Amino acid sequence: MVYDLLVKNGKLIDESQIEIAIKDGVIVAVDKTLEGAAVVVLDLSGESYVSAGWIDGHVHCYEKMSLYYDFPDEIGISKGVTTVIDAGSTGPKNIGDFYQSAKSVKTNVLALINISEWGIVAQDELADLTKINHDLVHQALRQYPDFIVGLKARMSKTVVGNNGIIPLEMAKEIQKDNGDLPLMVHIGSAPPELSEILSRLDRCDIVTHCFNGKENGILASDDQIKTFVWDAYRKGVIFDIGHGTDSFNFHVAEVALAAEMIAATISTDIYHRNREDGPVHDLATTIEKLLEVGYQLPDLIDKVTAKPAEFFRLTKKGHVAKGFDGDLTIFNIAKQDKILTDSNGNQRVSHTRIIPQKAIVGGIVYDVK
Ligand SMILES: [Zn+2]
Repeated sequence: MVYDLLVKNGKLIDESQIEIAIKDGVIVAVDKTLEGAAVVVLDLSGESYVSAGWIDGHVHCYEKMSLYYDFPDEIGISKGVTTVIDAGSTGPKNIGDFYQSAKSVKTNVLALINISEWGIVAQDELADLTKINHDLVHQALRQYPDFIVGLKARMSKTVVGNNGIIPLEMAKEIQKDNGDLPLMVHIGSAPPELSEILSRLDRCDIVTHCFNGKENGILASDDQIKTFVWDAYRKGVIFDIGHGTDSFNFHVAEVALAAEMIAATISTDIYHRNREDGPVHDLATTIEKLLEVGYQLPDLIDKVTAKPAEFFRLTKKGHVAKGFDGDLTIFNIAKQDKILTDSNGNQRVSHTRIIPQKAIVGGIVYDVK
């Protein structure tokens, strides 16, 4: 067999040597050393790391939106990310157009469908309950089963208006009627109160913006983690970073880690503005921040590969193994100082940089910009 791509002399994050062969978009062989002919040979010379392609489970990349938008390849392959999951930019009335435009990009694009019919066309998409149409969501799920990987409900004051917890109850109903598909819930300022939100979530529901620095967050005024937050965490609700312009705080993440409350997945909530102006910039920078908080690097790589693949049920992604999609991220680790800034302007100086080099999607190699 002539491979399409043979990656030579790579190393995994545990420093073990690895070589990977890809054919027709799929990983066909993995070993310490591999021989054989290949159309493209990528020799990493033992210097670069390779992992399964990074998956960013919370982005905004439907370019026709006016509020939160970006271009998939700007936040995807250009940043070493092979799969992006748009978290609710579109709803049942515009997700079809998003699907069409996402087909022509190089990055894998998937979507969580907003339960509000037009997605985030305005900040308050759940303030009018008539925009939540169960049947329309159901139809879209049937029409785009490989594109839509879950539901999104944004549950904070500016989004829900006077509706309190009702939109979440409607989202849970839609979820139950559609095979218990993944549900991502955004948290922020009250109402609704965080306690009301978390008490309605089940195991494997995803809370994004988990370590935000807002009053309605996980910490009480004495810096203790609120009891009902522990209840949700122990129940198996998934805590996702969802950094965003406004939703990641170093201190909250540090207190949580010290108490052994761990984020399961690392995502950015990136869109053009917080990419260009910060504080997000890209997924690698978000990984660097969690490294600075005290997470271990092998763990962090898992939280942008295997873990999001598991929670969003992407059965062919997240692992460097035979039979999985030929998506890989090549990156370097350098001892270099860098100032990292959270969403509240707090800073930390990190000494380790994670520098993506290449994104490989279905065996095609793209240089990181
Ligand atoms: Zn978002």
